[in-house]
Amino acid sequence: MYPWGLHGLLLALAVAVGCADRPEPDDPTRRNLILISIDTLRADRLGAYGYDRDTSPTLDALAARGVRFETVIAESSWTLPSHITLFTGLSPALHGVVSPEHKLAESVPVLTEVLRERGFRTFAFTGGIYLAPNFGFDRGFETYASAMHESGSEEMRPIAFRTALAYTQRRIAEFDPSERFFAFIHTYDVHCPYESPAEYTEMFDSRPASDQIETQGNCGNPTFNEMQLSQGQAQFLSDRYDAGIRQADDHLGRFLARLEKRGVLEDTVVAVVSDHGEEFLEHGQIGHLTLHMEILRVPWIVAGPGIESRVVTEPVGLEDVMPTLLALLEIPSPPTEGVSMLPAIRGERRSAPDRARFSELGVGPELRSAVLGDHHIIEGWNHRMLFDWRADPNEQIDLATTEADRVAELRAVLMENAGLRSKSPLKAKAGLMGQLDEDLKRRLRALGYAP
Ligand SMILES: [Zn+2]
Repeated sequence: MYPWGLHGLLLALAVAVGCADRPEPDDPTRRNLILISIDTLRADRLGAYGYDRDTSPTLDALAARGVRFETVIAESSWTLPSHITLFTGLSPALHGVVSPEHKLAESVPVLTEVLRERGFRTFAFTGGIYLAPNFGFDRGFETYASAMHESGSEEMRPIAFRTALAYTQRRIAEFDPSERFFAFIHTYDVHCPYESPAEYTEMFDSRPASDQIETQGNCGNPTFNEMQLSQGQAQFLSDRYDAGIRQADDHLGRFLARLEKRGVLEDTVVAVVSDHGEEFLEHGQIGHLTLHMEILRVPWIVAGPGIESRVVTEPVGLEDVMPTLLALLEIPSPPTEGVSMLPAIRGERRSAPDRARFSELGVGPELRSAVLGDHHIIEGWNHRMLFDWRADPNEQIDLATTEADRVAELRAVLMENAGLRSKSPLKAKAGLMGQLDEDLKRRLRALGYAP
């Protein structure tokens, strides 16, 4: 009955049991997820995306061993709607959270809830403000921290990146290795007021002392924009911004090295994104108040077990992040506007043409934009601009008057999209937050927002 004898049977059982105890390290059903959002990080300031300053050795290395999405178009130019898109796979037009008075409708499934239902331990350390839990970000999280007492201070402060990473590392160490986890980390370290220690600012300072200006208290509209900065002063701010990127990158580097040493990265997918970029007078403003490419193009890098080194050139959006990350974990996604980019991550080519990427800003919206092929249209109530963003990446040459046919084509794409979204079954009605509390208002003003 047992031609291999009892000894052979026991051996076979031992092997089988051993396999059950020690699954393949790249088994998707064992993978954890770490999602990191570095707020206000424009793609073209990273070496992996072609920048010539050494701002991002860690992210460059992560991109080299994982997948880098070359053209990621954020669906909005500011923190709240873009992050809601990240967690829902829906555009601002469909999730409806387009003003600080809005909160996400309970009916919209979020990434964290999907993972929590699958038994993931879920926790987040964020910079708060527009990632305050009451906008809906805390749904599905066991722990959602957005502010804490810094040592020796009575005041609750937004959590700095280094602190968020340290807490994340500590929390991961507490889990039983059989438990899967989802960690979300968000930081404003790169955001105005662009403050970094001298060791970082000195790496990137290119301006004489006469161009230096105070950043604290001057963020956003209308302050910097009322100051009518010179190009040299804008470059000073831009240098400080680069210093902040390098500082965040170094923090991330130490964090990933510690996780690697402890073997955590062997079965953890790490994804790094941003919600929008930043402008330094390219189009007359400082901050993120336009829909030009310096605002819309953000990084998205994903690395981990089973992910081979690759660059995906097809234009994607933040709405694709949730279905893609779930696909990497072999977990079905709720319906989203975004699509899973898993085939592209595996190197499979799509036969479909590139999708137009849409972005918007304000209620209405006041500005909307579409990127299709080489062209980018930006349209407001009474004006529109057209750029060949590949040939003119800084968008200095407005083609709206010389390429009327292309303008008409892209306007038709915008109108069709607006019509489709108005009838979409995924369209949600955002709830109202009620009054913003005084503390949140104060924090918003400090970041340059005026609620
Ligand atoms: Zn932001």
